[in-house]
Amino acid sequence: MAQHFKDTSSCYICLTYMANPVSLKCGFICCLKCVNSLPRGPGGQGVMCLTCSEVSQKSDIRPKSQLARLVSEVRVLEPQLRAILRMNPRMRRFQVDVTLDVDTANNHLYISEDRRQVRCVYEEQKRRVCPERFSASFCVLGSPRLTSGRHYWEVDVGTSTEWNLGVCKESVPRHEEVDLSSERGFWTMSCREKERFLASTRPLTVLMVSPGLNRVGVFLDLEMGTISFYHVGDGTHIFTFPPISVAEPLRPFFAPGTPAKDGGSFMTLCPGFSPSVASAAGQGYGALSTAGTDAPCVPTAMDTSPSDADPAP
Ligand SMILES: [Zn+2]
Ligand SMILES: [Zn+2]
Repeated sequence: MAQHFKDTSSCYICLTYMANPVSLKCGFICCLKCVNSLPRGPGGQGVMCLTCSEVSQKSDIRPKSQLARLVSEVRVLEPQLRAILRMNPRMRRFQVDVTLDVDTANNHLYISEDRRQVRCVYEEQKRRVCPERFSASFCVLGSPRLTSGRHYWEVDVGTSTEWNLGVCKESVPRHEEVDLSSERGFWTMSCREKERFLASTRPLTVLMVSPGLNRVGVFLDLEMGTISFYHVGDGTHIFTFPPISVAEPLRPFFAPGTPAKDGGSFMTLCPGFSPSVASAAGQGYGALSTAGTDAPCVPTAMDTSPSDADPAP
């Protein structure tokens, strides 16, 4: 987000924060000093816009003083914004050991024996019939169910190009196509084509994510009612949903991309520190949540292709 503010406050020509911004006749904005590096108009008169080629005479060039003030504010705030939006290392004290709840897994999802890996497969998995299983969408829930307090977990999405993960209400419908929408009880982040990221708000929020997102941190704060996503690799904040108030348990949610779209890549739950493991290792993680015993699943049907209009798999 800090980078986004910086980019939109930058000059198209010198690529740094705009200094004394001016506008040309067509509305193109750049630094005053950069006007000199624009190509000359026909006969050496005026300067030509880099994007639309319209020629502006000297009298057409206007200072943008309000923009100048805004740019200087952004410039001053950038370091603070970067600091505020970084992952707080203390979040890891709330790390929970999330595993996949096989009884909720759609039968086109392969779940590893340790219940930490899931991917979508063509072959139907043979599992017992249970009402909590997603039958229409390729989803699986994680355990434990979360009812209070703060919880943090990390999901390795590896080289996967399509995935959906986050949190959902325990009561979400299991036998109809999942509509990944916060209005329907899904607070998720989705990846499409490796580099487009969406949050399941209505309307969808397009997310700006720094490059190289291989591991996503999810922080659920049920005291504040917030659900946040982090880029674990560089520690940047990705998105926080507006506060929610939910009177029922929430579950971690996962929906890998279909094999056609994603080549069957795994989503992997990173092991959390359980209190016993932490104390055995002599680590001071005193405030850990206990790990649950069963896990939730995620969405989608094989033939449903997620789109911009609907991030549901
Ligand atoms: Zn410039
Ligand atoms: Zn122009």
